[in-house]
Amino acid sequence: MAFDFDLFVIGGGSGGVRAARLAASEGGAKVGLAEEYRMGGTCVIRGCVPKKLMVFASAFKDQIEDAASYGWDVNSGPFDWQVFRPKLRAELDRLEKAYRNTLKNNTVQTFDARAELVDPHRVRLSTGEEFTCKHILVATGGRPFVPEFPGSDLAITSNEIFLWEELPKRVLIVGGGFIACEFACILHGLGVEVTQFYRGAQILRGFDDEARGHIAASMEDRGINLRLGENVETITKKDDGLHVRSTSANDGVFDAVIYATGRVPNTENLGLEEAGVETGNKGEILVDDYSQTNVPSVFAVGDVTDRINLTPVAIREGAAFVETVFKGNPTKPDHDLVASAVFTQPEFGTVGMTEEEARETGTIEVYCTSFRPMQTLFAGREDKVFMKLLVAQESRKVLGCHIVAPMAGEMIQLAGIAIKMGATKEDFDRTCAVHPVMAEELVTMKSPTRVV
Ligand SMILES: Cc1cc2nc3c(=O)[nH]c(=O)nc-3n(C[C@H](O)[C@H](O)[C@H](O)COP(=O)(O)OP(=O)(O)OC[C@H]3O[C@@H](n4cnc5c(N)ncnc54)[C@H](O)[C@@H]3O)c2cc1C
Repeated sequence: MAFDFDLFVIGGGSGGVRAARLAASEGGAKVGLAEEYRMGGTCVIRGCVPKKLMVFASAFKDQIEDAASYGWDVNSGPFDWQVFRPKLRAELDRLEKAYRNTLKNNTVQTFDARAELVDPHRVRLSTGEEFTCKHILVATGGRPFVPEFPGSDLAITSNEIFLWEELPKRVLIVGGGFIACEFACILHGLGVEVTQFYRGAQILRGFDDEARGHIAASMEDRGINLRLGENVETITKKDDGLHVRSTSANDGVFDAVIYATGRVPNTENLGLEEAGVETGNKGEILVDDYSQTNVPSVFAVGDVTDRINLTPVAIREGAAFVETVFKGNPTKPDHDLVASAVFTQPEFGTVGMTEEEARETGTIEVYCTSFRPMQTLFAGREDKVFMKLLVAQESRKVLGCHIVAPMAGEMIQLAGIAIKMGATKEDFDRTCAVHPVMAEELVTMKSPTRVV
């Protein structure tokens, strides 16, 4: 049977765009791609990229103060969202255009439309068009989720932050994950009064406990009103703002309440049932090691599969799918030892096991250090850097590395290479230090802080 497309991709985000481009350019496939919102997806339009630009914007307050401590004659006025916002929008427009051009130059036919599956070999677009496809790749990502409670319709999510006409003065952020913590730090840095509620005992669940404590303490020291064990009961709109009643009966008034309590896969009304594609408890598409669903012609990559929800992982899953299906080279995306960063202030870089996970594998040596870095110490700041290496006592392998420091994201990318290669503690030890930099501590921690 002749199909309209060899591959039809649903979703123009990190995973979908990479798969579409490679299938067309390297796999020689006739490819179609439908995107219902903006090309580039979450990462480019309402995730990593705009967020990182806001991280940069928010860091200048401290940097300007530090410059004054170093002798510069500088005065910092307030941050002006009206200057930043159009520049941010222009940059996102530029990137979206670049994504569109890349797809076009690689002969991918794009459709600005919503798509859904009709059966294992057919998609229908919101324009009414229908296409037959040899393979379908679902790469529809995820979206923020606000639980229902009285006044929940007054809450917004990370999606709306980038669209703000004005910067609010008082913000409540609900949630303790990386997105909640990053926005707490960003908005605080931009001069917004930030309160953060998290119903659990500590923020950043799933990361190394000690690092979490260090970040929470730093956030509080900087002036973020972090309230653990606290949740929202109701939100009511009044003339002076959004009145929030919390579980501990502490009322607060805010200009915006941002929910960052979790994301769900975009699988609703996607025709998955009609096509016979199985989903899990959260609605995520269930796939095997090659990103193939239970329906042989349908594959899924990225956040919609809820494996590791990060851009580089979605991209690699998309590339592995093309290797497998269009290049005759069965390839499993590698989900082991994925380094990542949390752009709090200070930043957090992490790779491998947490101490809690490493302890489960046998006896480990824990190497820790905490110190005030030269640059901010000189400027009179109390900021502390935290570094931790987890080493398997028997094999000597470094099982995990956790860094809370300015530029920790940059550091962990490089430490991640060594750890991915299977570096031992002795490999770290015989690597000569670079001096004077913060990261030299990674190769100079001689004695374990504890053996557990
Ligand atoms: C605020 C925020 C910050 C983040 N920061 C980072 C970070 O610093 N580093 C990092 O690695 N990751 C980060 N992420 C996660 C990262 O953005 C995602 O892991 C990544 O974008 C997933 O790519 P994807 O291709 O699976 O889906 P997405 O990029 O979400 O793309 C899916 C696309 O499909 C479209 N779509 C959905 N349904 C349909 C349909 N039926 N028809 C047509 N189109 C459809 C959507 O509009 C969307 O454009 C962040 C996420 C958020 C929300």
